[in-house]
Amino acid sequence: MNQPVKIAILGAAGRMGRALIQSFPAAPEARFAAALDRAGCPELGQDAAQLAGLPAAGVPLGADLAAAVAAVDVVVDFTRPEGTMAALDACLRAGKALVVGTTGLTAEQKDRIVAAARSIPVCQSANYSVGVNLCLQLLEITARTLGEGYDVEIVEAHHRAKVDAPSGTALRMGEAVAQALGRRLEDCAVYGREGVTGTRDDRTIGFATVRGGDVVGDHTVMFLGEGERVEITHKASSRSNFARGALRAAVWLASRPAGLYDMRDVLGFNK
Ligand code: NAD
Repeated sequence: MNQPVKIAILGAAGRMGRALIQSFPAAPEARFAAALDRAGCPELGQDAAQLAGLPAAGVPLGADLAAAVAAVDVVVDFTRPEGTMAALDACLRAGKALVVGTTGLTAEQKDRIVAAARSIPVCQSANYSVGVNLCLQLLEITARTLGEGYDVEIVEAHHRAKVDAPSGTALRMGEAVAQALGRRLEDCAVYGREGVTGTRDDRTIGFATVRGGDVVGDHTVMFLGEGERVEITHKASSRSNFARGALRAAVWLASRPAGLYDMRDVLGFNK
């Protein structure tokens, strides 16, 4: 068996960082080698596995990015955009691979990632869930196969603390369907309906949002035709699905040449 891939988690004290650390026992091909967070993080110096609710692993939470990057094969970043940019610079200097999970990057920051990926392998995905990426693939096949003549409606549900709607994943699903049907989502999306709306326009893609309780994230895309309907549903019940997908991406990325990849490359969908 190959040596396990040595991985540093950046943002290890955060929600995703802890979920990533919890995912290592189920990924023998990955080794939890370093835990990093921002300078000033109150948990610095503590055992990172214990912070994640596991037995101590002898990996203290540190803030010395350069030293940690030198000792690992891949850095997995779930922080804030400034953290991502610091990780990018450190990985560039050391010639190491980077998995970017952080969202909310500006166009300029994304350009920096594209430029860096000419020298190092980088995987960037707004959603590392294997199930969601599989659903995107299924949506494209379904939209292409059914073609016009089916009305597309997307319903999503999230916990009551979520501040934006529809979810980024619902929009990504809408884009996948629109693209497969040769439409632009900006031109055909309908976000909610009220009052006398008139009959449905065939070329629209409708979105409906449910908010409440502790729902982690449910998405259903309906293709409603004459005499039948096809529904593709994904339901997330914890953050562990993102964490497991990101670790899978890190192991995959360790043996790739420089380039910019996403979760769909990891799953072999872009061949
Ligand atoms: P969080 O706030 O719980 O954790 C972020 C951690 O990053 C904190 O420990 C914080 O101290 C640390 N941090 C912040 N700035 C830093 C810096 N400059 N250097 C080093 N560490 C820094 O947030 P979270 O819920 O874990 O989410 C983190 C990011 O991951 C967000 O952007 C979120 O949207 C994204 N996310 C992506 C996916 C995906 O599948 N791609 C899934 C879930 C969350």
